Amino acid sequence: MGEETIFSKIAKGEIPATIVHEDDEVVAFRDISPKAPVHILVIPRRAIARIDAAAPGDAGLLGRLLLAARDVARREGLDKTGYRLVINNGADGGETVPHLHVHLLGGRAMGWPPG
Ligand code: 5GP
Repeated sequence: MGEETIFSKIAKGEIPATIVHEDDEVVAFRDISPKAPVHILVIPRRAIARIDAAAPGDAGLLGRLLLAARDVARREGLDKTGYRLVINNGADGGETVPHLHVHLLGGRAMGWPPG
């Protein structure tokens, strides 16, 4: 189980965020410091620290996370132009908040590979 972070507080409604999707297991909200015209974070309500901390029993939840990201991308109109989903894991991955989150980035062309 992950620790209490700013993201679990957002999921519980204890800290404000611009929420774009909520269901029983998943919450999505706009990133406070967007790196693209659309930058949304999709998180499980349950605090899994990072993808490396996920267990085999989390497979269903991980699927829900990706499908929620896909649905939000469609609602933002990004399915027409394309978008990127990113999970940063650990220090070299650029992880700064230890609560699993999928970045949904879109609204501009992305470079590859990422810097
Ligand atoms: P990471 O670097 O862990 O993959 O991504 C963390 C993301 O969370 C960053 O893009 C950062 O801008 C965003 N972030 C950090 N604190 C907050 C916050 O309090 N509210 C929101 N909406 N986003 C946050």
